[in-house]
Amino acid sequence: MADELTIPGQEPLAAQLRAAAGAGRLGQAVILSGRGDLLRCARFAAAAMECQGETPPCGVCPACRKVLRDIHPDVVTVRDPDHKSIAIEVLRAVRSDAYILPNEGKRKVYIFPDCALLDPKGQNVLLKVLEDGPPHAAFLFCAESAALLLPTIRSRSVEWRLAPPAEALAAGDPEARRLCELLCGGRAADLAAFCAGLENSKIDREALSRLLSDARDVLCAALALSCGAGGGDDPLAARLAGSLDRRRLSALADVLGGFIRQCGYNVGVGHLTGALAVALAP
Ligand SMILES: [Zn+2]
Repeated sequence: MADELTIPGQEPLAAQLRAAAGAGRLGQAVILSGRGDLLRCARFAAAAMECQGETPPCGVCPACRKVLRDIHPDVVTVRDPDHKSIAIEVLRAVRSDAYILPNEGKRKVYIFPDCALLDPKGQNVLLKVLEDGPPHAAFLFCAESAALLLPTIRSRSVEWRLAPPAEALAAGDPEARRLCELLCGGRAADLAAFCAGLENSKIDREALSRLLSDARDVLCAALALSCGAGGGDDPLAARLAGSLDRRRLSALADVLGGFIRQCGYNVGVGHLTGALAVALAP
């Protein structure tokens, strides 16, 4: 028996998508979020929608092979390389095309490889077809964070998250490490700029919470080092322990803990990052 088609590094997600496809629960609007090869995951989901085999996506039937090679006539990757955001005309064309029956496939699938390129106006153009488009049309939105999409789109979509890459888990969020470096430097202006940058990056509360947790882990390792209690071999923790005294490390870990809890409440990210800049200032 041939190996089952999967997504390298995202096997659990592939298994979940396969189960949903098998049960006919893949839905009309799907958000694939997180960091990693979102387009590959979207192609996997599209193949599951078009597959003619018994265990979609089989990866070997003509439909699967065409989707995976990006030559299936009913699976469209929506791009607009001439503009910064995908132009309204392009999206209107998608909207009209969605009502036309598929050429050869079971469904018409539209993949948006990067929702950072879909501005709110463009998303509103798609909203109508998401609300009452034909059942054969499906939309796959790839977004590092689902927060890039309007709440009206999100509420009509099923979100599937990629597992974070293994190396990111080992090393911690790069933004968290950047925050720790700035804490070593102790310049209020740098910390304020970092927090403003977080807000501008449209980070959602969940990602902010992860970032702060990773930073707090490094602070706790630094605190353990400065108490002579080991603390691992992270050079960044050693730098923190060398730059800040125990009282300050402990206070910072407390501050981050407070903000991690607040990320669990319905508080605006802009409010959180603004307050964080104030709370972290030396
Ligand atoms: Zn197939």
